[in-house]
Amino acid sequence: HTEGSGGLSEDKICVCVRKRPLNEKERKKRDHDAVTCLHPTATVHSAKLRVDGISKYLDHHSFRFDHAFDEETTTEEVYRCTAKPLVDWVCGGRGARATVFAYGQTGSGKTYTMGRIQQMVAADNALSAHPIFTCADDIFETLSDNTLFGDEGCSLENATCSIAIFEIYGGRIQDLLNNRNRLKVLEDGKGEVIISGLEEFEATNPKQFLAMIEKGHTNRTTHATEANDVSSRSHAICQILFRDKNNGKLKGKLSLVDLAGSERGNDTKSHNRQRRTESAEINTSLLALKECIRAIDGKSQHVPYRQSKLTLILKDCFVSRNAKTAMIATLSPGSSSSDHTLNTLRYADRIK
Ligand code: ADP
Ligand code: MG
Repeated sequence: HTEGSGGLSEDKICVCVRKRPLNEKERKKRDHDAVTCLHPTATVHSAKLRVDGISKYLDHHSFRFDHAFDEETTTEEVYRCTAKPLVDWVCGGRGARATVFAYGQTGSGKTYTMGRIQQMVAADNALSAHPIFTCADDIFETLSDNTLFGDEGCSLENATCSIAIFEIYGGRIQDLLNNRNRLKVLEDGKGEVIISGLEEFEATNPKQFLAMIEKGHTNRTTHATEANDVSSRSHAICQILFRDKNNGKLKGKLSLVDLAGSERGNDTKSHNRQRRTESAEINTSLLALKECIRAIDGKSQHVPYRQSKLTLILKDCFVSRNAKTAMIATLSPGSSSSDHTLNTLRYADRIK
């Protein structure tokens, strides 16, 4: 991994932030809006004081990103700037890998942005503006146009499109499309990572694709209500795989990852032993992820993908020369979250 690999390095990683609007709960706590996103800069303010009748911020931190989306930006716009180029890239075939991550504090909008069906159905026509849904339409539109990429590319004539959804929770990997079956991840002699037992379901049109995504989300959330906010402590991964119709060879893979709440990684002083172990695990995986992403365009020589299940599973996205990544860091605007928000901005900044 050396820098300057044919100018590609510049657009191999796209890092953006998305701020959500201040909500009712925050208003009730008398939180004020402590985040400004003025493309391409995101700023978090801390400690608002009134001096001589004038409100002043004691401190602020600004960071530049590829995009800084404010609270007015639609999910469609976020999709168009982040995931859409990766969909096209993966459909180009040649073993392309692409990953989109949603990173941020619990409640900052990861699942809103990345895909939780129950919120979207409630919002009625928001369905079509949702990244994964837009993504399904886009994928099949691209696949049906077989003139786009030539022989190497993925089209409905030469490739199948299948989907797998699973969750990593407390070190366990569970299949969300197949009864939460416990899965194992291993690296074979050739360094290929295999998730044994994972079911891949083929989709031949957007409707089937969406039904699968809906099932995955339902399985994740049903479980979450049983066990008190599991979703903030688990990474959910949705993979879309394109395979050659003749030989089954992987032509392209897109992974959409809704990460565990970033604040969980700090929560290692909890009295509950299980919580503590979980937090330590989340911490390790998010730290390893940062280093692995940095390695994609040569910012880091060390690719510590074996340090966590999350990074091991995504190994090919880090070590392949044919991989691209988008990171969407989601921000809570409330002043009571500004420490977490600053941590999120620092994490995202470190990747860029
Ligand atoms: P996370 O997955 O990061 O814990 P969620 O995606 O569940 O957070 O979002 C928390 C709440 O904020 C949800 O009620 C969601 O609908 C709302 N929300 C998140 N992002 C936005 C946004 N950009 N615009 C409007 N509401 C949002
Ligand atoms: Mg969530």
